[in-house]
Amino acid sequence: MYTTMKRLNLLFAFSLLAILVQAMVYTPTSLPNPKVQDRGNYVCNPDEIVASSDVVLLNRLARQLEDSTQVELCVVAVNSIGEMEAFDFCYEVFQRWGIGKEGKNTGVLLFLAVESRDVRIMTGGGIEGVMTDAVCHSIIHETMMQPLRNADYSDAMALGTLRIYEVCTDGAAPEELRQMTSATNRYHYADESGENELFELLLAVGIVIALLIFAFAIVAMPKKCPKCGKRGMRKTNEQIITRATTKKEGLGVRTYICEHCGNREDKSYVIPREVPTVIISGGGSRGGFGGGSFGGGFGGGSTFGAGAVGKF
Ligand SMILES: [Zn+2]
Repeated sequence: MYTTMKRLNLLFAFSLLAILVQAMVYTPTSLPNPKVQDRGNYVCNPDEIVASSDVVLLNRLARQLEDSTQVELCVVAVNSIGEMEAFDFCYEVFQRWGIGKEGKNTGVLLFLAVESRDVRIMTGGGIEGVMTDAVCHSIIHETMMQPLRNADYSDAMALGTLRIYEVCTDGAAPEELRQMTSATNRYHYADESGENELFELLLAVGIVIALLIFAFAIVAMPKKCPKCGKRGMRKTNEQIITRATTKKEGLGVRTYICEHCGNREDKSYVIPREVPTVIISGGGSRGGFGGGSFGGGFGGGSTFGAGAVGKF
């Protein structure tokens, strides 16, 4: 009897635990907006993934960043967003909270979901030119990835924020702030991959150019003549018979003459349909979340969803 009771208690405890764990799944609506509690708070850290000392650092960095550059940084670290895609989650939080100055869209969202191993930087349209997708990619993969893989989440967020600060201000973070985290000592934090990336880029460009020259040489080579068998068929003329429209394909004729035997061949070819011109309107709207009534606190910026992403 006693053991049965004990087992039941244990079962009850486990069920309770399971419910508690379940409750930690956040949605863009249930995620607490840090600015609502305190305007000086830029860090949403409901699961206490970021150490409290690092939260202080992140808030000071974000505050200084906003004062000096108008860039509004928001840091979100949660255990779980359930089955939701990190992109959708970030996009919705970004628009709901209105991260970035209204009209300037200078918001940056640094996001971490531990369970799904998602790390993401999302930028507003006004900061995309500085925090380019390539820069965001480098911050995630060169700076944050190693501590993330070591499960040093707080270090990763501190280092990522330091890098974002440095990129946006185009200078080093103040020494006293950098020293607030030991992550800079534990991890190689400076971005020294630049040279390597440049080399890889040059190599890639070189390969593309070589391939283009090769393809061009093949195209430019005269075709085999069906009469004399030598490579002598050169295009001498090209004529459009019927012009292509948006509704119909066109027809053309190319004339080839063999430079060895004078053999002449006319070959017809199809001209693809014209592509109708579509005017794309600049989508400057806020994405329709909440119709302008924000959770408050942030400046009222929006995003087109630019940035970078990583799985650790
Ligand atoms: Zn010929």
